[in-house]
Order: sequence, then structure tokens, then C-alpha cells
Amino acid sequence: MPTLKFAVLAGDYIGPEVMGEALRVLEAVARQENLRLDYAAADVGGAAIDRHGSALPAATVQACAAADAILFGSVGGPKWEKLPPAEQPERAALLPLRKHFTLFANIRPGLLYRELADASPLKTARIPNGIDIVCIRELTGGLYFGLPKATTTLPDGDIQAVDTMVYRKSEIERITATAISAARARGKKLCSVDKANVLETSVLWRKTVTAYVAQHAPDVTLSHMYVDNAAMQLARDPNQFDVFVTENMFGDILSDEMAVICGSLGMLSSASLGAAKNSHGLPFGLYEPAGGTAPDIAGKNLANPCAQILSAALMLRYSFGLEKPAARIEAAVKQAVVTGHRTADIAFGGASVGTRAMTDAILAQL
Ligand code: NAD
Repeated sequence: MPTLKFAVLAGDYIGPEVMGEALRVLEAVARQENLRLDYAAADVGGAAIDRHGSALPAATVQACAAADAILFGSVGGPKWEKLPPAEQPERAALLPLRKHFTLFANIRPGLLYRELADASPLKTARIPNGIDIVCIRELTGGLYFGLPKATTTLPDGDIQAVDTMVYRKSEIERITATAISAARARGKKLCSVDKANVLETSVLWRKTVTAYVAQHAPDVTLSHMYVDNAAMQLARDPNQFDVFVTENMFGDILSDEMAVICGSLGMLSSASLGAAKNSHGLPFGLYEPAGGTAPDIAGKNLANPCAQILSAALMLRYSFGLEKPAARIEAAVKQAVVTGHRTADIAFGGASVGTRAMTDAILAQL
């Protein structure tokens, strides 16, 4: 019986609520598919600050390192917002985790079911079939990590700040390989987004992606788009994309735009894959909902558990190679929604169910 060993980092506010629901779904699928779950919970974020004085205790990193994947909730919230910026739960837990495990590839499905198209600001008229695209964002390079990064006072008394945008060819190649896999699992269309008319890093990006796809994936249709145009095209006609791949900062902005046009954050999952392989020979990864801790609805049985449940499905697919159980979870979530079970965030003011009842509806579809 295959064993799935993963660390459970639920975090704060709605984090533990939706994590509990995702574990219920995983337990059900494991029973049906003859899989053994071996998971351990570890403290992270504000909860870890309260208990251990650190948002990412060493024991939590150890629990992650001993596992094949991390199922992550979300961290942060008003209780800790008076802490200095560097000690804020998100910055002090999530960024070091990404760095520690070299989680360089962020995969975000932009999925909006046809039945929920009115949850999007684009509305049904523009997206009659909903939205189904994937954003691949490079996560450990570019402007956010490049050095030097400093603020200095100049001899004339003026103040200057500098950030550095830097990419290596090898970093571009490995994210291109991830994007190729994602494109091959779908419509084999890949759009690379850059700013090659202005930036040196983008010139290297475009050259490298072009050469890598030509050599390794002649079956994938590659196109290129400038980032400013991509931002417009996403809002105009998102489904013209199948998979798009881009560098860290462009991906940060475009993936948030994608989240907005896809309606509720409560439906959007994500995977961050590492450079290292796990004990199954597959990428070690961190799987989390696109949204945050939603303090405004925490503890009220209002949170939508779908994003966390769909993140668990991504974990099965990418870190454990279990395509069938992953697809079954995704189909069950879709069927539950399509048959009218909606948490308040996707109910458009109509009848809604609570967090637990939403999961019950998904379990019924399984
Ligand atoms: P948020 O994503 O928590 O909430 C934005 C809006 O979306 C809120 O109205 C919320 O109710 C709604 N929402 C989010 N997830 C939902 C769900 N599952 N079901 C129903 N509605 C949902 O963003 P915010 O309010 O800006 O941030 C709150 C806290 O979360 C902050 O401390 C922020 O730093 C943190 N945060 C953490 C992560 C992370 O851990 N990865 C990501 C983003 C924000």
C-alpha cells in the first residue's frame, strides 16, 4: 500500500478550519484508493509565534524535511500585525520555507466553473464557459531576491534605493521545464511573458525559453507576450491562454489579477514545487490555497474549504504522482458546486452552506 508522508502546517484563523476539511477528504480518498496517509501537524505562523516565539520553529522545518510534501494553510492576521515587518508571520514563515526548500516553481490554476462565471468581474457574457488557464511563476529569482538590495544616502544628501533583477540561464531552463510539463498535461500551448523590449533579464529569458522549448518540446506551441499586454489580455479574454510562464515579479502581479478574474479566493489552489526530489522521485512541494487567513470570517463556519481541498489534490498529483485520486477530488469539488452546494463567497447572495456541509457535499460526490 503506497504511503503518503506529508507535513500539515495549518497556520492561523481559517487555516486550521479548512485544513481539517481537506484532511477529511484525503482520508476518504485514501480509504477508497488503498493509500496510507502518514501526516504530522506542525506549528507555523502566528500560532507558532504564540507557542514557540518563532513563526517557523526549527522543529517545523524538520517535520517538513522528513516528509515528501507540505500541505500548508495560511498564516498571519491582525493579532500579529504590530510585530516588526521582518517578524510578520507571512514574511517570517512562508518566505524562509520557500527559500529553504528551493520552491522555485509556483503553479496556480486559474479555474472558474461555467456555473460560477458571474462571480468574476468579467461576468458570464465575456466568459460563458468560465475560465480554465494555468499560471507558472518563477518563485526564487528575479527582483525579489537579487543583490544588491539597499537604501543609501548619497553624498548630495539625496536618498537612493536599489533592487536588482537577476536571472541565470539555468533558472530559466528549470522553470521552462515545469511549464512544458504543465502544457503537455493540457492543450500544449505555452505563452512566455516577459519585457524583452526593455529588460536584459527578459532578453535572456526569451532566448532561453525559445531554445529550450525548441530542443525539448517541439510538440508544444510556444508564443511570447510582453507583460503589459499580458495584463490587458488576461482581463480581455483570459481563455486565449492555456499555460503561461513568467518571472517572479510579473508572476506575482499577473497571478493576483488571475485570482480576481476567477471570482472567489476560496476556490483557488496552488502548488510550489522544489528543485529536490522526494522519496517517490517526484518534486518535493508546498501546497496551499491562493488566499490568506480571512480573519473577517474565521471561526464562523463560513470559510470555503474548496481551495484547501483542491491544493491537497495538487499534492497528490505532483508530489505523489497520483493522477486518478487527484482528478477524482477535483471532479467531486466541481460536482458539489455545480449541483448547488455553495459557501457564502460563491452563493451570490443565494442559499449557502457552511464549511463543514460544503465538505460533506464533496465527500458525497466521492
Ligand atoms: P485574505 O485572502 O485572507 O482575504 C481576502 C478576502 O477573501 C476576505 O474577504 C476573505 O474573507 C476572502 N476569503 C479568502 N479566503 C477565503 C475562503 N477560503 N473562503 C471564503 N472567503 C475567503 O486576504 P487579507 O484579508 O488581505 O489577509 C488576511 C491575512 O492573511 C493577512 O495577515 C495576510 O498577511 C495573510 N495572508 C497570508 C497568505 C499566506 O499564508 N499564504 C496569503 C495572503 C494573505
